[in-house]
Amino acid sequence: DLKAWVSIMYGCNNFCSYCIVPYVRGRERSRRPEEILEEVKGLIAAGYKDITLLGQNVNSYGRDLYGEPRFAQVLALAGRSGVDRVRFVTSHPKDLLPETIEAMAAYDAIMPQLHLPLQSGSDRILRAMNRSYDVERYLGLVRDLRAACPDISLSTDIIIGFPGETEEDFQGTLRVVEEVGYGQMFRFIYSKRPGTPAATMPDDTPREILVERFERLEKLAQKSSLAENRREIGRVLPVLVESASKRDASILAGKSPKLQTVHAQLATDMCVEDMLGSIVNVRVDDATTNYLQGTLV
Ligand code: SF4
Repeated sequence: DLKAWVSIMYGCNNFCSYCIVPYVRGRERSRRPEEILEEVKGLIAAGYKDITLLGQNVNSYGRDLYGEPRFAQVLALAGRSGVDRVRFVTSHPKDLLPETIEAMAAYDAIMPQLHLPLQSGSDRILRAMNRSYDVERYLGLVRDLRAACPDISLSTDIIIGFPGETEEDFQGTLRVVEEVGYGQMFRFIYSKRPGTPAATMPDDTPREILVERFERLEKLAQKSSLAENRREIGRVLPVLVESASKRDASILAGKSPKLQTVHAQLATDMCVEDMLGSIVNVRVDDATTNYLQGTLV
């Protein structure tokens, strides 16, 4: 695998009302920036091409280190470390700062892709979840991100059926999802975590309703992934070669900057093994919900 993950911090201070992580992993602890950079350099030397900086909430990196450096500076260090591709996960919307968005725009190595968990598109539910942002703030961030990185691809997490979620709350989620147009959406039906505040909230939405909401969201998710993938048709993308296609050894499979799977036919004298780990240009000819298909250029 050419992708690697570097933990830049551990723990979480946020106490979203449905989540057990702060209880089991403890408070935020950031690693020293020198140590992170050293690990990144080691991974580059070992041949990794795509590095993801990892933390429960990377945007609050550094708060425990006397407030300096903050995440944007660590991201910039990774951006100029020499690695081909840098990503980061997870970004809590309440802590996504303008400096981080500026760093994303400033370094070519920082990929035009961001996972920004929405969880719900209802302010009432967001308050009950203790998420500390509302829909307006979230959509404002999306606008700022698109202004700085016009071609950015956004992914998200949605919880369906948080205790007390009404049809109206759920429609709020559908509206935000339509408006943002996510490339990828991870959907979960709420499940109770004992020991969290949400576990004691009245929760009486029938299962059939939750399943029906899940299916409605699923349809929207497919539609917006397809729309995002189709936007790539006609473009030439740098593709990191990862393997041959599982079904056909004469087709290479790789990843675009936005982490889309890309397939391209190899010429008869080409061998995918010789190309592993290289970044090749592929013109996208067609797209489905799950992958892009193109021609090597
Ligand atoms: Fe922390 Fe994420 Fe859990 Fe919220 S959902 S408490 S930000 S780990």
